[in-house]
Amino acid sequence: MTGLRNLSAPGGVLEIGNLSLHRLAERAGQTPFFVYDRQQLSDRVAVLRRLLPPQLDIHYSVKANPMPALVQHMAGQVDGFDVASAGEMRVALDTGMSAQRISMAGPGKSRLDFSSAVGAGINVTLESASQLDTVELIGRQLGLRPRVALRINPDFQPRISGMRMGGGPRPFGVDAEQAPALLAVIGKREVDLVGLHVFWGSQCLDKETVIAAQRHVAQLVIRLADISGIHPDFVNMGGGFGVPYFEHECALDIGAIGTAMQEWLVPLGQRLPGTRPVLELGRYLVSEAGLYVCRILDRKQSRGQTFLITDGGLHHQLAASGNFGQVLRRNYPVAIGNRMDSRSDEICHVVGCLCTPLDRLADAVALPRAEIGDFVVVGQSGAYGRSASPSGFLSHPLPAEILV
Ligand SMILES: *Cc1c(COP(=O)(O)O)cnc(C)c1O
Repeated sequence: MTGLRNLSAPGGVLEIGNLSLHRLAERAGQTPFFVYDRQQLSDRVAVLRRLLPPQLDIHYSVKANPMPALVQHMAGQVDGFDVASAGEMRVALDTGMSAQRISMAGPGKSRLDFSSAVGAGINVTLESASQLDTVELIGRQLGLRPRVALRINPDFQPRISGMRMGGGPRPFGVDAEQAPALLAVIGKREVDLVGLHVFWGSQCLDKETVIAAQRHVAQLVIRLADISGIHPDFVNMGGGFGVPYFEHECALDIGAIGTAMQEWLVPLGQRLPGTRPVLELGRYLVSEAGLYVCRILDRKQSRGQTFLITDGGLHHQLAASGNFGQVLRRNYPVAIGNRMDSRSDEICHVVGCLCTPLDRLADAVALPRAEIGDFVVVGQSGAYGRSASPSGFLSHPLPAEILV
C-alpha cells in the first residue's frame, strides 16, 4: 500500500521538503492546496533509469500534471514531453525542451493545435488520414515541412488494464490494419515521418500485462517496418505504468519489466538501428509526489455516524471522490496530517464542502479523532488532480499549487 505512512512526520505533523504542513499552508496562502515534492519527482525518474534498459527514452505526458513549475522540473529529468493541446505545448516549450523532443497527440486537434505545432516544429502525431491532409496544408501555408508521427491503434487487447485505450474500435489513432496503406500515402506527401506511436492502455499494475503489451508493440513495429520500409527516428511504445491508489493494490514490478524489455529491444534495435524507443508516462512519474491538503471546517454526527466536513472536495480532487473513471468507489490514501502519531480509532466519513452526495474524500475510514482546523491529506494527488477536476462546479475558490 502506498505511502502516506512512509512520509516524514516529526511530532506527528507531516512534512514535505522539510516544511511542516503548517508552514506549507502559510506558504500556499490558503487551504486547500496541492503540494508536489521535487525530490520525489527526481527520485522516481532515477529509479526508472536504474531498472530500465539504457537505450530507452522516458517521456513525461504533460496532461497528468501541467503545472508549469512542475513541467519545468521534469524537463531536467526526462528525455521529452508528450502534449495533447497547443496550451500544453506552450508550457512544454517554455521549459527549453527541444521542439523535436515534443510530440502532440489527440484525436480532435483544432486548426490552432496544428498551426501551433507545425509552426513550433514539434512532432504532430497523426490520428487519421484527414489529419494528414490538414497538417500538409498548414505546412504548405507556413512554408514548412511538418514532422509527423503515426498513431496506431494496436491489433491486440491488453488482457487486463486499468483503462483501455487501444485494441478494438477506438477514436484514437488508425487501426493497425490500415497503417500500411496510410504509411504509403504519408511517404508521398510533403511531410517527414519521424515516429510511430502505439498507446495501448493506462493505470496497469500487472507486470505480465505490461510485458505482453510491449512485446506486441515491438512485433507490430517490426512488421510495419518490413511491410512499409519505414525507418522512423523514434517509436513511442506507450506507457501504461500504474500506481497503487487503493489498500489492496501493489506497486508495479519495474525490475521485472526492465529485464523483459531487453528481450524485445534487441531485435527492435537490430531491425531499426538508431530508432529511439520511447516510454511515455504520466501518473507513474508524478502521482505519488503530490498531496492534496484541506482543512476540517466542521465535524458532526448523523444517526450514529461521524462526518468530517472539509474546505476541499471533488471540485479540486475529482479522482479521490471516485467520480473520475472508477466503477466501484474506493478510498484514496487519506490521513489527518497533523496527527500522524495518533491511533486510528475513529471510523468516519470525510466529505468535501460541495452540496452533492458525490463529494466524498473517504468513506468509513479509520482515522485518529480529528477536530475542526485539522489537516486532511489525500495521497496520490500529483496526477489528474487540479487540472482534471471541475473547478467551476459550485463557484468555490481554486486550490493553490506549490512545488517544494
Ligand atoms: C493519457 C495519456 C498518457 C498518460 O497516461 P498515464 O496513465 O498518466 O501514464 C500517455 N500517453 C497518451 C497518448 C495519453 O493519452
